[in-house]
Amino acid sequence: MTGGILQRLRNLPLSGRILAPFFILLVLLGVIATLGVVYQTRKTLSDTIDSNLLAMQSTIEQAIRDREARLRSESALVSAMLEQGIDLSSLHDRKILQDMNRHRFRVLTPTDIVHTENRELRQLFKHAGKSGRERIRFLNDDRTGPALVLVRPFQTNDGHSRFLLGTEPLGKPFLSRLMRNLQGRCFLFDYNGRYLSGTTGTVPPIRLDNQQIAEISAGKKLVVPTGWERYQLFAVPLGTTDMVILAVGISTIGLTTLAGNLALGSSLTLAAALLFSGLFFSRHIRRLLAPVRELAKATETISAGNFQIEIPVRSEDELGILTRSFNTMVRQLDILYQEKIAKERELATLDQEKHYKEILEAKNAEIERVNRELRKRLKEMSALMELNRAMTSSLDLDILFERMLATIIDQFLCDRVVLFTYNPGNEELLVRKAHGIDQDLLRGVSFSLGEGITGKAALAQKIIYVADLQKDERTLGYKGRHHSRGSMVAIPLVVKQRLVGVLNLHKIETDAFSGEELKLLQAIANQAAISIDNSQLFEKARDLSNTDELTGLANRRHFQMILKREAAQARRFHSHFSLIMADIDHFKAFNDTHGHLKGDIVLKKVADILLQNTRGIDLVGRFGGEEFVILLPKTDKAGAEAAAEKLRSHILAENFPGEEKSQPGGCLTLSLGIAEYPGDSTDIYELLDMADRALYRAKENGRNCVVSWREEIHAVS
Ligand code: GH3
Ligand code: MG
Ligand code: MG
Repeated sequence: MTGGILQRLRNLPLSGRILAPFFILLVLLGVIATLGVVYQTRKTLSDTIDSNLLAMQSTIEQAIRDREARLRSESALVSAMLEQGIDLSSLHDRKILQDMNRHRFRVLTPTDIVHTENRELRQLFKHAGKSGRERIRFLNDDRTGPALVLVRPFQTNDGHSRFLLGTEPLGKPFLSRLMRNLQGRCFLFDYNGRYLSGTTGTVPPIRLDNQQIAEISAGKKLVVPTGWERYQLFAVPLGTTDMVILAVGISTIGLTTLAGNLALGSSLTLAAALLFSGLFFSRHIRRLLAPVRELAKATETISAGNFQIEIPVRSEDELGILTRSFNTMVRQLDILYQEKIAKERELATLDQEKHYKEILEAKNAEIERVNRELRKRLKEMSALMELNRAMTSSLDLDILFERMLATIIDQFLCDRVVLFTYNPGNEELLVRKAHGIDQDLLRGVSFSLGEGITGKAALAQKIIYVADLQKDERTLGYKGRHHSRGSMVAIPLVVKQRLVGVLNLHKIETDAFSGEELKLLQAIANQAAISIDNSQLFEKARDLSNTDELTGLANRRHFQMILKREAAQARRFHSHFSLIMADIDHFKAFNDTHGHLKGDIVLKKVADILLQNTRGIDLVGRFGGEEFVILLPKTDKAGAEAAAEKLRSHILAENFPGEEKSQPGGCLTLSLGIAEYPGDSTDIYELLDMADRALYRAKENGRNCVVSWREEIHAVS
């Protein structure tokens, strides 16, 4: 409950919270003051009433005593007169007792006394008669009501005993008369608490219990308040032995009304004071707190993001200082806010720029990627086209292989390329052409199916990629002739499931071939296989004729046939013959510079020179490519050397258009190797091989020279 009120107080506006305790305190003080005033007034008034009651008590007491004294003195006077023989009526008549109530005194004879009904009165008479002195008592007679009764015995002058009976009534008339000026009420009780008489009514407003009677008898004065009155009870001794109890009361209606009026007046005053002070203070506090309200409102406005606010400074007190500080703070906040907005804008712009930049970068990257892809595709296309062109430009196998390998090395940026052709007769793969490796190193190297990486690729008719040759145990390093490092791809060349050859590509870096390249290589291999197959078919067909198409010289097949025949004859007739193997130096350079057509012309011209500068019995043949072979029947080595030297010098002297540009020495030259039958060998194949090796030595010796086969050549190779 208290918590709830406190909570409600806490939720009041600031002015309410300041005013509420003040008003609560004010109301409390007002109520305490009013109650104090009412209590004090009531106390003062009841004290006044009590002292009035006390005064009334002594007045009444005194009045009763006066009555008693008067009764005594008057009775003494009357009895004295009666003793003198003056009777009561004459006394009265003579105005002596005019002031006295003549009915108050009566003279009684002893007989009268005997007939007196009231026992207590009879006893009083008896006591008086016995003592011979006056006796006074309080009696409550049904006829007379409560009264002081005096009996005095006296002797008439003629000697008769008489009794003077005087009564002083203390009933309602006496009490009413007494209280007339005292504005109160008075009630008389006997010592037993029995009601005797009163100023008003027959029923007393209070009743006495034994306790009260005992206390009053002991001389105490009791104050008993009733509904609208306040009574004082006290005992009044009468005569010598009697006592009555008197209750004197004053109305307290005035007091209650006064207290009520006082309380009402105070409450109204308090309410008015509260109202006026409330109005005044609430206005005052509202005015005082106006800057606080303005501050609160301004804070709300600022929270909504509006800093364009300035609160007027109305005073130089703490609120004024606060307002001024607030205004300064708002201005600073405004500056900060503006800065923040500017920063945010800047950031947003930067963000946007960054966004666009990112988009641009992404687009550029995409374009770059597409370009790369296009370049790659273009490269692939051009590789294919180039290869296609190379492979379709000649049916001559040597030229075909030459061009094919050159293109592959160029397109795939390979370091080495080796081409094997497959001979289904002996199921062997023979090195046919190599680029990047000295071709003579690999001369005669062959693999059977399933042997080494090359043989395995051929057997499985599947491409084999070796990412690191040094880690692959299948590597045979071309039978120890050339230990390759890095990565290698062996591509079987297959036409209609028929193996034609194997193409080996090398790069000196490990893992250098990409998946794309392998795919492209496969495509190229298919194409190459078809070309090789075609060329082989063509070669076969050509070999069936005797002459070489381009030069008109004997072709290889025809030459070998004649050679066999010559060897047979020489054997039979024990004669001899020589073989010259000739090869144009750096002919590849010529072809590369001037093109194959120009190369063909040179070939033809060389063939003509060879024909023109040999004997009629000599047989000049084209052994393949730019290689020529000459059979010199009945010629020993020396003769052959001379003939060869002659040929060499003729070729050197001949002017071949373009030679100065393409050939290393500026001249087209010929290297020649010689072997003799039977001096060197009686086997024509061995003889051919010897001439070839001598030629190789001539090349080694710097070209443009003649070398004859000797044992040491054999030993070296
Ligand atoms: P060298 O013999 O001095 O070592 O160098 P090379 O350049 O002459 O030797 P290589 O064996 O490397 O090249 C032979 C070249 O002969 C390759 C090819 O272009 C060319 N060739 C072979 N046959 C023909 C052909 O029929 N016509 C043309 N134009 N060129 C041919
Ligand atoms: Mg050559
Ligand atoms: Mg050659």
